[in-house]
Amino acid sequence: MKIDLKGKVALVTGGSRGIGYAIAQALARAGAKVAVLGRDGTRAQEAARSLGDGARGYACDVAEAAQVEQAVATIEQEFEQIDVLVNNAGTTRDNLLFRINEDDWNTVLDTNLKGAFLMTKHAARGMIKRRWGRIINITSVVGIAGNKGQANYTASKAGLIGFTKAVSKELASRKVLVNAVAPGFIDTELTRGISAEAREALIKAIPLGRLGQGQDVAAAVLFLASDFASYITGQLLVVDGGMVL
Ligand code: NDP
Repeated sequence: MKIDLKGKVALVTGGSRGIGYAIAQALARAGAKVAVLGRDGTRAQEAARSLGDGARGYACDVAEAAQVEQAVATIEQEFEQIDVLVNNAGTTRDNLLFRINEDDWNTVLDTNLKGAFLMTKHAARGMIKRRWGRIINITSVVGIAGNKGQANYTASKAGLIGFTKAVSKELASRKVLVNAVAPGFIDTELTRGISAEAREALIKAIPLGRLGQGQDVAAAVLFLASDFASYITGQLLVVDGGMVL
């Protein structure tokens, strides 16, 4: 079983580092041309350069409607199409309920949930016209199980699961498949701030006995982007080493 994405164009938000970079790398290695998006355009371009000739980096804040519209238009012009959209850009502003201020709430919801909505709305149009598309939303196991100190992040990720299911039903007749991947605890900049003690406790709670790596999530995304997943839509694939059962 070899996944071949030659001739396909993939857009990965937050593809400049962490899980998004691993996803961009996996898609590029499978033959796709990849557009890497991040707020820091220089970093996105550097990441794209390391992926080879077919990749390009763009500055875009997914929470800003005008920037999303402009980025999708530019990418469609430069690559001619977008076949695979991975809504991976995400952020946290962790705190207990009474300490979450409005700005913490809005930043997280705007990036993680509104960002996916805006990107999907603009990128799906071309997929619908061509009657082929894959939209893969990177949510989180906390969107299923909840987590103390992450009410804003949990709400955004649970919302993304609902968004995935609703949009999958709307776009299925146009052969655009919409699925979600829920990583558990993955070793990236986002999670490196956690104390050594908390990290050990988390590892103990993972049946497979290790933190996840970006590549673990990328493998699931690659499968969902491929023709091997052509009868799968509206689903949530959990990649967490068995943490949330
Ligand atoms: P990182 O913090 O390592 O990377 C985040 C990426 O998103 C960066 O490329 C960043 O680039 C980009 N980004 C952040 N905000 C925006 C924005 N407003 N617009 C565009 N790009 C943005 O995160 P991870 O790789 O750990 O996480 C990736 C995804 O996986 C997130 O959605 C996260 O919620 C999810 N996830 C992660 C888990 C983990 O354990 N690490 C577990 C479960 C889910 P820049 O700063 O240049 O904008």
